[in-house]
Amino acid sequence: MADLSPARAQSTGAQIPTLGDTSTMGSSDERRLGDRIAREIYRDPDYLDDPVLAEYVQGVWQPLLAAARARGDLSPELAERFAWEVMLGRDRTVNAFALPGGYLGVHLGLIAVVSNRDELASVLGHELSHVTQRHISRLMSKQGQMAPWMIGAMVLGALAAGKSADAGNALIVGGQAVAAQNQLNFSRDMEREADRVGFGIMTEAGFKAQGFVSMFDKLQQASRLTDNGAYPYLRSHPLTTERIADMQARQGLAAPGPVKAPLTLEHALVAARARVLSNVDVDALRAWQLDAASAGLSTQAAPRQAGVWYGAALAASQLRDFAQARIDLEHLRGLVTGDASATRLARLLQAEIALRAGDAAGAQTVLNTLLTAAAAPGAVTAQDQASTTRRPELLLAAQIALQAGPAGPTDPAGGSAAIAAVAVRLQTWVAAHPRDAQAWQLLSSVLGAQHQTLRALRADAEAQVARLDYAAALDRFKAAQAVSHQQHGGQAAADHIDASIIDTRQRQVQSLLKEQTLDR
Ligand SMILES: [Zn+2]
Repeated sequence: MADLSPARAQSTGAQIPTLGDTSTMGSSDERRLGDRIAREIYRDPDYLDDPVLAEYVQGVWQPLLAAARARGDLSPELAERFAWEVMLGRDRTVNAFALPGGYLGVHLGLIAVVSNRDELASVLGHELSHVTQRHISRLMSKQGQMAPWMIGAMVLGALAAGKSADAGNALIVGGQAVAAQNQLNFSRDMEREADRVGFGIMTEAGFKAQGFVSMFDKLQQASRLTDNGAYPYLRSHPLTTERIADMQARQGLAAPGPVKAPLTLEHALVAARARVLSNVDVDALRAWQLDAASAGLSTQAAPRQAGVWYGAALAASQLRDFAQARIDLEHLRGLVTGDASATRLARLLQAEIALRAGDAAGAQTVLNTLLTAAAAPGAVTAQDQASTTRRPELLLAAQIALQAGPAGPTDPAGGSAAIAAVAVRLQTWVAAHPRDAQAWQLLSSVLGAQHQTLRALRADAEAQVARLDYAAALDRFKAAQAVSHQQHGGQAAADHIDASIIDTRQRQVQSLLKEQTLDR
């Protein structure tokens, strides 16, 4: 069992909190607890790594992190030790929550309801502040007598309870956890501090203060109008009179202008995507087509119309009605002309739909227009190309190459040239982003298609490591070692290097697994 006593916390050099209570969980203990919770979330079928939505959220999250570091709210020690990872949940409800160890949960419902990046930044900045101000560690240290696995189960139970009462009850273990669950809420002082620090971080990061005001306004309206559990964020963040008073003081800092923020084209498409992916029930998917057909649509502002056509196209493709999806895409195309980021999102969707329809060649053609657009203007060196690699395009390229298979043009070695090219790009990507499980998984498939069994097994193992599932990773490493021993004798030098990398990684992951098992 990990020692969660205050003495231990101080000895690990934890940041001194600015609020009264000084007992905090040490940052290493907190990270381990966060990893334990994150591992369960990765296994949850509602966990979603959608490249388009993830990229959009990262576009807000990374500037916030950089600003928190620049302002000194985030210490170099904590920046290094914590995960600082956003996890998306396929959930219609409006919620975001900070977890131990620098993990952040964001429901698709939140992305669907905000009007722009500024509003999203106001919520993420607030949650980030709960972590940097060590509010989480102080809540966790209250559970000092509990084993980490029990605290983990309690947090997961509280999360599941936010989704549906039944699932929550199944996960909460024992009466003690139920009793302790109401201790997971932050104090009013913590909320006020997170508002204050979060506001500072988001404005330092270049987001408009207006976003903070309009988001608050949105929550206030929702608290008046809804009582249906669609806003779990309001349950954990009640709009107390103090918070409202602080907000009104801050309103003076925001630039004068309408509180209702304009919806941008890009955000309208992202929000529509979040809405479709958060509810893939057949009836909900069909409803998009009705929205698109409604008589009043053409009188709406362009971003609204574009959002509806984007959602309708994505929903139709989820229903495998590709003819309808293409019609919807045509409407969308007319509305995004002249807006580079919205055009890119529309093309990514077009390629995704072609791929799902089994038209790998069509998907590749669309992807090529995207890459050409990104490369222009001027000549592009290989180095530029690597630095302009964007994750949605790369993952799509890998899926297209895999679907096209060996039928595509061949390289000198007789394999598919597209697969060989995308293998190189994915290798470069995972070297820079070793925790990208989806990229490792696609690399594994791509290497498998090239009959590079050892490397494919290793990439598969690394995907499991990225999801913190060390037991599953070890299985893959052992399978790779068995293959390597079979091949013994006629081994090429390259295989020899791969085999030694696999042995090293196997030992490292073995010790990570031991740590994970002992940590109870
Ligand atoms: Zn809060």
